[in-house]
Amino acid sequence: MSNYKYIESSLIHGGIYGDKYTGAVNVPIYQTSTYEQKELGGTPQWEYSRTGNPTRAALESLIAELENGTNGFAFGSGMAAITAVLSLFKAGDKVIISSNVYGGTFRVLDKVFNNFNITYSIEDTTDIEALDRKITSDVKAVLIESPANPLLTITDISAISGLAKKHNILTIVDNTFMTPYLQRPLDLGADIVIHSATKYLGGHSDLVVGLVVVKDRILAEKLAFIQNSTGGILGPFDSFLLIRGIKTLGVRMDRHVSNAEKAAEYLQNNEAVKNVYYPGLPNARGYDINKRQAKNGGAMISFELYSNYNIRKFFSSLKLVALAESLGGVESLVCHPASMTHASIPYEIRQKIGITDGLIRLSIGIENIEDILTDIDQAIKESEE
Ligand SMILES: *Cc1c(COP(=O)(O)O)cnc(C)c1O
Repeated sequence: MSNYKYIESSLIHGGIYGDKYTGAVNVPIYQTSTYEQKELGGTPQWEYSRTGNPTRAALESLIAELENGTNGFAFGSGMAAITAVLSLFKAGDKVIISSNVYGGTFRVLDKVFNNFNITYSIEDTTDIEALDRKITSDVKAVLIESPANPLLTITDISAISGLAKKHNILTIVDNTFMTPYLQRPLDLGADIVIHSATKYLGGHSDLVVGLVVVKDRILAEKLAFIQNSTGGILGPFDSFLLIRGIKTLGVRMDRHVSNAEKAAEYLQNNEAVKNVYYPGLPNARGYDINKRQAKNGGAMISFELYSNYNIRKFFSSLKLVALAESLGGVESLVCHPASMTHASIPYEIRQKIGITDGLIRLSIGIENIEDILTDIDQAIKESEE
């Protein structure tokens, strides 16, 4: 729990701040695998860096504080974090996922956990009543993203958490797209928060990191055991870099969001654009729910051009906005979900859940918005056939 009233201060001073040995204002990089023990059979705080490392511990306590949880866990990637969370389940258990989650989350369930008879089903988590009927006795958790990837669908986190509590199952929220600066799922009743900190938390497209936060002692003990047993931990240097990135999360997000709001408005008023998906637009589906549970609509936008625009040409005509996987960095990125982030989802399922071949996903960076919009505008014009 936080020592500061405002998250802007916790971002900079939260968790374990500085170094008590030297007064350094930054947490040192403890680049060590092991620690000298004073005596045989003692209970040292640090014994081996898979189990615990002071730099990683500083990051873990920081993310726990930012998410209003009690315990944080840092992993070598978002997928390692998701894998650790899914390792809470056993053969015969089933996890419900919302109909558009990150492609890798689908893939690890479909191709890895399925082999261990931990199964999944894809459901529309925006329809709470229908979902209630889908929670059979083998279902042990609901895993959601809100906004979900890539259609920015909004799921009511409080309603899902309430439903999950009624059935005595876990609510897991992948909060990558929002970050604790914009949305805190544990406060809304969720049990577990996951992050691909590769994205906004790191913020500079120079790290691959996964984080998990919980607020329950038993879950914390289980995850600490899984983290140490399966070993997908984050190294000290990357832990340091992520702490550094998080310090500027607030100022970056403010700029990301104000740019995204302008970009969404531009796209909505553009005659070439068929659909815009952005939860910050007052006419967006889920706008009211998002407004209740998050500070604003975030900075991810998806859209479709009319069929007389060639999207291949659109992508190749962009100059400032880079065609790349990932999101949440200071630079604007664009991607084609059907062939990139969501290619691991079979074509038929993609069609069913609305990830069309014409869908374009934008991660709006913190450049000057005029330069971003000028680039998008010329690429749309270039792509007209
Ligand atoms: C990128 C991403 C992941 C996977 O994280 P990695 O750090 O790439 O392993 C999971 N969830 C969401 C929402 C993501 O965007």
